[in-house]
Amino acid sequence: MSITIEQIRSDFPILKKEIEGKPLVYFDNAATTQKPRQVIDSVNEYYRLHNSNVHRGVHLLSRQATISFEETRKKLAAFLNAAHDYEIIFTRGTTESVNLVAYTYGEANIHEGDEVIVSGLEHHSNLVPWQQLCFRKRAKLRVIPVLDNGELDLASYTALLNERTRLVAVNHISNTLGTINPVREITRLAHEYGAVVVIDGAQALSHGPVDVRDIDCDFYAFSAHKTYGPMGIGGLYGKEELLEKMPPFHFGGEMIETVSFEKTVFNKLPYKFEAGTPNVADAIAFGAAVDYISNLGWDTIRQQENLLLEYGTEKLLQVEGLKIIGTASHKASIISFLLDNIHFYDAGSVIDHFGIAVRTGNHCTQPLMARFGIQGTIRASFSFYNTTAEIDRLVEAINKVKELFA
Ligand code: PMP
Repeated sequence: MSITIEQIRSDFPILKKEIEGKPLVYFDNAATTQKPRQVIDSVNEYYRLHNSNVHRGVHLLSRQATISFEETRKKLAAFLNAAHDYEIIFTRGTTESVNLVAYTYGEANIHEGDEVIVSGLEHHSNLVPWQQLCFRKRAKLRVIPVLDNGELDLASYTALLNERTRLVAVNHISNTLGTINPVREITRLAHEYGAVVVIDGAQALSHGPVDVRDIDCDFYAFSAHKTYGPMGIGGLYGKEELLEKMPPFHFGGEMIETVSFEKTVFNKLPYKFEAGTPNVADAIAFGAAVDYISNLGWDTIRQQENLLLEYGTEKLLQVEGLKIIGTASHKASIISFLLDNIHFYDAGSVIDHFGIAVRTGNHCTQPLMARFGIQGTIRASFSFYNTTAEIDRLVEAINKVKELFA
């Protein structure tokens, strides 16, 4: 790496924080990533210097806000390799993006007797909207089973596909196990049956390049806050021809072309799906996050995260009585584990006293926990700003947990 880890860390003010006199170790990056100075400054600067509503006024501030807002859309389109800027719709995040597709495409195209496929690895955000749609429509929800190593059972997936399959919704990377799913292959197979594919990219955007045209998915949902950007903003990529045919999600200002009491003509893409005043400040700061990642470069990010995954896996496996759940051959830097005879909440609380933030619980994947016959796990998820020395501190803390509960 030409840039040092210290230089990278100095961009993230929160990493200087101390917890109970110990430097913070932040290993909850799959829940949300920390924000670099550039992103924080962007939000601050927007409200101090540029605050104005977009697409409305002809005055300078509004024109500037609109340009910066649309600039982020362009950056995101390039980041995801979308064919057009207007295929990127701003939402509050992955959850809202998935709901958008379920309530618009889903309501219009899923009918009684149709089948929707999800995977056993899904976050509730990419499961419950489809389950509820199926209830409303009397459609059938089918589930791709998960193998013991946390990979999807692709043979079973192939067997599930049939002429009634209308939609397949899977995540790109599992937030709980770190499994990187073969989304290109999953999409190719779904398309053979004419089914549309929704990818939940919440975890993927921060770990490596995403190319929606290469994957050929129909929709791709993401959240800024998991990608070093602010909370409350995210997006949905959708193929133009599908977005054009879909009805709007929310109705109101912005999404209209003309309104009379008799009828409303909807706005063109992407505004048709962006009713109301958007989260302008955070959208612009999302653009700053994309710039930050692009400047750092995927090589640097992947090198550090792969190192942490390898080092973390090796060190954790040396702890007696520790079991890693999720050992897929392609994994992101996320490690879920359990300690023999020690409840994950107890372990998490003690680890917290060491100033180390790990996530404990079911990670919004209750069916996946049921698949493994467990209630939850302890999850350490690493970012490029983490270090092997921090992993050593985690291992030390785990050994203390074991002593305490021996
Ligand atoms: N899908 C996955 C895989 C996730 O990890 C998350 C967040 N934990 C979500 C969806 C939901 O994202 P958000 O809360 O930002 O809408």
